[in-house]
Amino acid sequence: MKVLVVDFGGTRVKWGLFVNEDLERKGTIGSRYIQNVKDFRSFISQFNFERLVLGFAGMVNDGIVIHAPNLPRWEGLNLYDEFKEYFPIIENDANLFILGEYHFGVAKNHKVAVGITLGTGVGGGIVINGKLLRGKNGLAGELGHICIDINGPPCNCGSYGCAESFLGEVYFIERVGRIFVREGESPPSDMKMLREKALMGSSLAKRMWDEYGKYLGILIANISSVFDPNVIVLGGGVSNAYDLFKKSMFEEIKRRKVAYRYETVVLKSSLEDSALYGGFYLANLL
Ligand SMILES: [Zn+2]
Repeated sequence: MKVLVVDFGGTRVKWGLFVNEDLERKGTIGSRYIQNVKDFRSFISQFNFERLVLGFAGMVNDGIVIHAPNLPRWEGLNLYDEFKEYFPIIENDANLFILGEYHFGVAKNHKVAVGITLGTGVGGGIVINGKLLRGKNGLAGELGHICIDINGPPCNCGSYGCAESFLGEVYFIERVGRIFVREGESPPSDMKMLREKALMGSSLAKRMWDEYGKYLGILIANISSVFDPNVIVLGGGVSNAYDLFKKSMFEEIKRRKVAYRYETVVLKSSLEDSALYGGFYLANLL
C-alpha cells in the first residue's frame, strides 16, 4: 500500500510517502502554501498514493479540525468527506508522534508512554498498553494546555497560564526578546537562534534555557502525577536544545518530589520522523 502522511506543524509541514514498509520520499513545505484545502489538493496531486493520513497541531475529532491556530481556514471542515477517495485518517500530530515513538522509537515496549512535542506550540499524546488515550471527544492528551501558573499569560486556547503560553516558541521568544532588550543585548528571532547564542557562550541565553527547562519540569511533574508513565518522550524542533535545558528540567522534577518518587524517565526522541511513522502505523492498522 502507498500511504501519504502529512504532518501539519505550526510553521512547517512535513510529508512522507510510504511504499509498503519504506519511507520512500519525504520533504517539507511552508504552511503558508497550503492555507486552504484547494491549495493542499494541488500539492498532493503530484503524489501517487492510496491512503492519506493528516496530522494537525491542534484539536481534531471525527475528521473535523476543531482548533488549529495556525490553519484557521481548515477549522470546521469535515475532512473525511473532503478527501474520502483516499480513506483519510485525521489525527492530532502529537498523537502521531507518540505512536511513532511507541512502535518504532525510544518508547518501544513501554506500557505507559507520554509524548510531548515542543515547537510553535506544545502538543501531547498518551499511549497506554499500545492504545492512544482519546477521551470522550477525542481531545485527550492536550498536555500543552495544563495550567502551570494561575497568574500566567493568556493562551491561544482561551485559558491562562497554560504550559504552552510559557513553552510555545512564539510566547517564549517574545519574553526572551524583552529580557534581552532590557539587558542591552540584541534579541534572538527564534529558538534556533537562542540555541546558537547559548552554544556560543551567551550567559543570558543559557539562563533563558534554564528557565525553559524549569517550566517544562513543572509540566512533567504534573504529567507524572497523573499517568505514572514508564517513559516521557520529548520531540519537536525545540527538543534539539535538550542538552541546554535538561539540567534545570530534571532539577525542577526532583524539586517537585511527586515525579521524583515515580522515577520519571524522560528521553529525547531519537527518530527523525516519528509523526510520519505514527501515521504510517495507523494507516496499516485501521
Ligand atoms: Zn492553552
